Amino acid sequence: MLNRTELREIASMEGKGYFVSLYLNVDPMFNKKGDYMVHFKNMMKDTIETLDKAVYKAVKDDLEKIESYVLSNKRMFRKGLALLSSSANSFWKEYNINVPVKNELIVDKTPYTKSLMDILDNYQRYAVLLVDKESARIFTVHLGEIVEYGEIHTPDIPGKHKKGGWFALSQNHYERHIDFHIGMHLKDVVEKVDSFLSGEYIGRLIIGGSDEAVSMVKGMLHKTVLDKVIGAAKVEMFAKSDEVLRRVEPIVSAYEKKKEEEIVESLIAKALKKENAVLGLDNVISALQEQRVMKLVFVKDYNANGYNCSSCNYLSVQKIDSCPYCKGKMDAVDYMVDLAGQKAIQQSALIEVVSESKKLLDAGGIGAFLRF
Ligand SMILES: [Zn+2]
Repeated sequence: MLNRTELREIASMEGKGYFVSLYLNVDPMFNKKGDYMVHFKNMMKDTIETLDKAVYKAVKDDLEKIESYVLSNKRMFRKGLALLSSSANSFWKEYNINVPVKNELIVDKTPYTKSLMDILDNYQRYAVLLVDKESARIFTVHLGEIVEYGEIHTPDIPGKHKKGGWFALSQNHYERHIDFHIGMHLKDVVEKVDSFLSGEYIGRLIIGGSDEAVSMVKGMLHKTVLDKVIGAAKVEMFAKSDEVLRRVEPIVSAYEKKKEEEIVESLIAKALKKENAVLGLDNVISALQEQRVMKLVFVKDYNANGYNCSSCNYLSVQKIDSCPYCKGKMDAVDYMVDLAGQKAIQQSALIEVVSESKKLLDAGGIGAFLRF
């Protein structure tokens, strides 16, 4: 699983020799006929042909290792694949990620991590804090996956087996003592969560635990952290990771649905005012051809027919027989949105697939925010 700490370590590696970094868009949505193998083979061929002989010799093992990984691990593929390899440094990293990536094969003295960093920046990550009176667990949820990050334990609280509310108003010294320990524990938890969120640039937090624990922790959070809280869930302290994920997923999807609606509203408003946004397949295709797309937005079920140049991949909604750029043959295709998506990814544009939106469907089903 991707995280900023690991990427920072990779990016600052002081290695010897060379690193090979492969990024491959294996998203089935954009690879109707498994075309990623064709793209992969072409990139390998181009790289081998253009590499300096000595460099090629140095990375030959890496290229072979990468090729055999791509050929034999298809069942693990999700939407994007990133492989970073350096035999000279006994270094190998593989990331099967849930978003498509731009196809790239890079040989350099350092590993290429920018695309992975971009994914962390652009696809919302969520932190989950599970808390009770003496322990806490922190998780991250990113692209539908959950990973436990760490545990905070404040042991030896006297009377921890005592029944009843543990934040109840205390009547005697003994109970005040317990409250003091719980207070210390929660103070520790709050500080660790705060530094974790800022260190990993995570903007959203979900708190899990009993109602009592949740409200106590919320009461102690700094305003900046409190603003990041998008919901709370009742989760047992010792729940397994996938159980935690199951409990927080409804909160995440409700939040993301709200975000999607905001994006659609803003897209339509900007397009109507002609403020660097367009609606409709025709306009989107022109913008893609001019490399102006910053973020492509479309409704999941929307699709359209059109024409695709068999040699340069020029796209056209209207029927034309030969490509205006290269005179290549234009093939009729029934998956224009996928081709548009592919083009967008290759231009490093972001993609927002909206699960459902009547508003966007009525406005053409597809649109784009433009760079200029
Ligand atoms: Zn063409």
